[in-house]
Formats: sequence, structure tokens, C-alpha cells
Amino acid sequence: MKSQKSLRRAVVLLIFMVAVSPMSPFRAMAREVSTDPATLKRLVQEAHAEFKDVKEGKPADYIPELAKVPPDLFGVVIVTAEGEIYTAGDVDHPFTIQSVSKPFTAALVMQEQGDEAIEEKIGVEPTGQKFNSILATQIIEDISANPLVNSGAIAAVSMVRAKSAGERFNKILKFDERLAGTKLNVIEEVYKSEAATNQRNRAHAYILEAEDRIYSDPIEAVDVYTRQCSIGVTAKQLAVMGATLANNGVNPITQEKVLDPNHVPKVLALMMMAGFYDESGEWAYTAGLPAKTGVGGGIVAVVPGKMAIVGFSPRVNDAGNSVRSAKAIEYIAQRLGANVFGG
Ligand code: GLU
Repeated sequence: MKSQKSLRRAVVLLIFMVAVSPMSPFRAMAREVSTDPATLKRLVQEAHAEFKDVKEGKPADYIPELAKVPPDLFGVVIVTAEGEIYTAGDVDHPFTIQSVSKPFTAALVMQEQGDEAIEEKIGVEPTGQKFNSILATQIIEDISANPLVNSGAIAAVSMVRAKSAGERFNKILKFDERLAGTKLNVIEEVYKSEAATNQRNRAHAYILEAEDRIYSDPIEAVDVYTRQCSIGVTAKQLAVMGATLANNGVNPITQEKVLDPNHVPKVLALMMMAGFYDESGEWAYTAGLPAKTGVGGGIVAVVPGKMAIVGFSPRVNDAGNSVRSAKAIEYIAQRLGANVFGG
């Protein structure tokens, strides 16, 4: 009787140990995100078909040139950490990267100066406010900011080491090109349009200057930031940039090591906490993936170690987030079981 009991206990203990071990088949079942080609191909096409007729939101028009982008454009892409590419819709149409550039410039600063520099000189707290909230910048001493809202992004640009604004912008562009594995160009009409209407960003820069939280000439920093936001990317190129993060800093197409792997979790943490601006909490709750949105209609989401999922659709909601892109990414992420929190 007694030996039967201890045998049962031994079996239970054995099962438990197998279940919790890193090699556990149960763990693999629970956490494994499929990269099966047929599944990824099908999900990208399904997500595109499912949401292509959604008309919610409208192209951002506070930058006049953005209002001219055809609103029906819609593309969905997955690029895996192995460099496999799956596409549906308008994935080769260049659009301005806008705020999706922000985590990549933060990554460049980390690469140059270590990730503590971002924490010390900008901050890493979500503001809970709109991306261009002057209030959030005004109370920066109390709650800090982060490099994914406008004030923190302008500060991040100002931190890039360079002797001139031209050199600073070229460093950012070259870094983005290495992440994308291809040459990129500024969409000049959007740059001019934003440069003529970015008084609000200049206000952020002056408030930062008053608080000693900007590290180059403030107006020069805004100009480089505006150029950075006007870099043109296609959904496919953006997905390669995201896949470089998914692949621990190595571009899966060119195999170039662009970013030290120890900075990748820091970049993804910023994206998780602030990538969707004042909808970041909801995005974490529903999709559970680090992601970054831009008012140009692009969103990149990263499944760490696995893939990037990108949507491009110019109609954005009040928070500045592309409606169809978010829906498509969430659709794919849910079916893949890609939520980083599990489930
Ligand atoms: N260039 C835009 C701005 O500064 C970026 C905003 C965004 O994409 O959210 O307002």
C-alpha cells in the first residue's frame, strides 16, 4: 500500500518535472508559434480579405500631404526570422514611415551609447497621452517620457552623435537601410509639408531645451526628426526591419548584424509599453505583441525570435493608429497564438 503510494508520488513528480523542464513537450505545445509556410501564407491572405472593405478612420490630415495618400491602399506582410516572406495586397507601395521610425532611432542610440543612455536622458515611461501631447512634455520631470512619443523621439534624434544635422540624418538613414537591407529615400513632398506645419514639434523641442532634455540645437533636431519621419518604406521593407528585431538584431535577408542582441529586448519593451500611443494598454491586452504604429498607416509588430507582422493602410483612428493594419495583425497573431504573455 505504502509502496504503491510512493510509486504514484514518484510518477506524478516525474510528470511534473518533464512538464516544467525547458525541453518539455508541453511547454513547446503551449508556446510554439507556427512558422509553417502554408499557415503563414493562408493567414496573410485571410487577414487581407477579412478587412479590405473596412472603411473606419481616415488618412491623417494634420500633415497636409498625408491626406492625399489613396485611402484604399492595404497591404499585409509577414517576414520570418529565417527570411521567408508572405504577402497580400499593396506591399510594394512606398509610404512615409512616420513614427514607426522611432524605435529604430532609439535602437541606434542604444547601439552608440548603451541602453542606459535612453533611460537616463529620455525616460522609458508611457505617457498615457496622445503622441504629440504638450502636457506630457510639460510634466516630463514628474513622469519622464519615452522615445516613442514625439518629444522623446526628438530627444533621441538629438542624441545621435554627429557634427552636423546632415551627418546625423545620414546616420539614421543608413541605420534604417541596414535594418531594411535596401536603399531608402525621403518622400520629399511629405517632408516639405510636415516641415511647414510642425510648429507643435518645435514647441516640444523648446520645452525640452528649457528642461535640459534635448542634446543638440532644438530646431535642428526637429528638422532631422521630420526628415526621419518622411523616409519612404514599403510594407515589405518595414517587415524586414521588424524581422531584424525578431532575429535578435541580424537582418534575416542580408545576414548583417545590425543591432547587438542585448538591446533587442529593450527596444521591444519600449514598443510594448508605448508603441500604440494612448492605446498601448488596449493593444497589449488584446494582441499582446510589441508593435509600433505611424500616422502614415504602417504598423510593425514583432513576435520575438519568430517574425514581424506588418500592416499598411492609410486610414487611422483618433489615436493615430491604422485601423485595418491593427485588425490584420491582431487576426494573424491570435490565430498563431503569438501573444507574448501566452494564452
Ligand atoms: N511625423 C509625425 C509627427 O511628428 C509622426 C507622428 C506619428 O506617426 O504618430 O507628428
